[in-house]
Amino acid sequence: MKAFKIDHIGVAVKSAEEASKIFKDVLNLEVEEEVLEDRKLKVAMVMVGDSRVELLEDMDENGTISKFIEKRGEGLHHMALEVDDIYKSVERLKAEGYRIISEPAPGAGGTIVAFVHPKDVHGILLELVERRQNNGQK
Ligand code: ZN
Repeated sequence: MKAFKIDHIGVAVKSAEEASKIFKDVLNLEVEEEVLEDRKLKVAMVMVGDSRVELLEDMDENGTISKFIEKRGEGLHHMALEVDDIYKSVERLKAEGYRIISEPAPGAGGTIVAFVHPKDVHGILLELVERRQNNGQK
């Protein structure tokens, strides 16, 4: 198991469209919008060089992002690290006693993602990302 880099920073927002304005219009960054039907999320992915900022809008008022905003307001939600093999990474973390709150499942942009409990990562909700489609391009 190896992590390469910070893949993206996830931000909980009330409106992905509204939140992407500063990045698109002022900072002149490219923004890719995507709807994750199974997770009921609208995602605006801001491309910042090799990294990205993921703006997350919940389409479900009882969803995790909605609940997060209700409790803490808009803001930083998680940090995502790219790993080489997500299944092995999750297996290894479990063996070390870390709590996985979301098993590997499809994420934005054809990735596979899993989440580690923030209480086990010093207050950071940690997302692991494996990008299968881009593996050949590195
Ligand atoms: Zn994310």
